[in-house]
Amino acid sequence: MTAASWVDGSAGSGFGLDHLPYGVFSRAGEPARVGVRIGDHVLDLAPVAELGDPASALAEAWRAPSLNTFMAMGPEHWRTARRWITEVLGDEAHRERTAPHLHPVADVELHLPVEVGDYVDFYASEHHASNVGRIFRPDQEPLLPNWKHLPVGYHGRSGTVVVSGTDVVRPCGQRKAPTDDRPTYGPSQRLDIEAELGFVVGVGSPMGRRVATADLARHTFGVVGLNDWSARDIQAWEYVPLGPFLGKSFATTISAWVTPLAALDAAWTELPGQDDPEVLDYLRVDGPAGLDIEVEVVLDGEVVARPPYRTMYWSPAQMLAHTTVNGAGLRTGDLWGSGTVSGPERHQRGSLLELSWGGKEPFTAAGRERTFLEDGDEVTLRYTAPGTGGGRIRLGDVTGRILPAP
Ligand code: CA
Repeated sequence: MTAASWVDGSAGSGFGLDHLPYGVFSRAGEPARVGVRIGDHVLDLAPVAELGDPASALAEAWRAPSLNTFMAMGPEHWRTARRWITEVLGDEAHRERTAPHLHPVADVELHLPVEVGDYVDFYASEHHASNVGRIFRPDQEPLLPNWKHLPVGYHGRSGTVVVSGTDVVRPCGQRKAPTDDRPTYGPSQRLDIEAELGFVVGVGSPMGRRVATADLARHTFGVVGLNDWSARDIQAWEYVPLGPFLGKSFATTISAWVTPLAALDAAWTELPGQDDPEVLDYLRVDGPAGLDIEVEVVLDGEVVARPPYRTMYWSPAQMLAHTTVNGAGLRTGDLWGSGTVSGPERHQRGSLLELSWGGKEPFTAAGRERTFLEDGDEVTLRYTAPGTGGGRIRLGDVTGRILPAP
């Protein structure tokens, strides 16, 4: 069991001593800097680190307006920091000099926590890929021949990754239904969400060197919630043959809090199985490589889906190994999305495309029939995982509201 923190209300909040996610915050008139969340508070790390010798080397990294400097320091420093924060927030002896640097989360502004390098999005759920295959290509096999041999992905647009709470403007673009003679231009009429997890690279790798699946934790700093907003009508017309482009690049929202990989030590679980076909050697994993994380999709204030991350076919370690197998290097701040998390059951589907089966089978949220997103809709993705202290930790929420097209 992890000991409790002296910070009131932190025990049982999902943000106890066994979690300690990092974010970037600011108070009125002050510069943005790194903080760690405990209960409903954020601890301003730099000034506290300056008080204590063991962590003083970290203070400068924590004064930066993103996590990148800290993340680039590497796993030994991440471990040192976590041990030190656990002691400072766990031992009553530190209370008097630390408490003045705690601020209610409600009183601070939260910023994009990471300066995002390259952003790659995968397609790791067999249930999601099969559902989308059936909806987009009803006359073909749902999975394309490559799908079980490699984690399919595409490069997204890092410059439009935004922090939770940022409004999303309905995108415009070319749309053409199969029955239309020619495309038209206008606001997307099939705007959607994709409930995903995101993984953040802390330590990069040089070009020419592959990252092995066993080295996930050497390079990966932590995990964020991620909503890959998707305009299905724009996507369906543009995606052949080179994949998603403008149907995805207008906005991707991540949580304000980055959960360190160490906080997920109790969440690792076996993958559902990759025996048929067997994967190539560079994609092999030893031991539990999946994550037991529960996701909730909230639309109009109502939970409309509960996708289970443990059902994902490809693991984060395999996605990282595949990204570098051609010799591509990694950079601090690189972000990769898991792809939509969908389980085998209807109520476990992580997109409205699947929940409404391409718009043909409306579902109900807050007493109304729904298919795709309407202007004014607010979507929140929530995530929980087993914590190392026996309870559950709550990853950062991912929220966004749809504004009308300009
Ligand atoms: Ca996606």
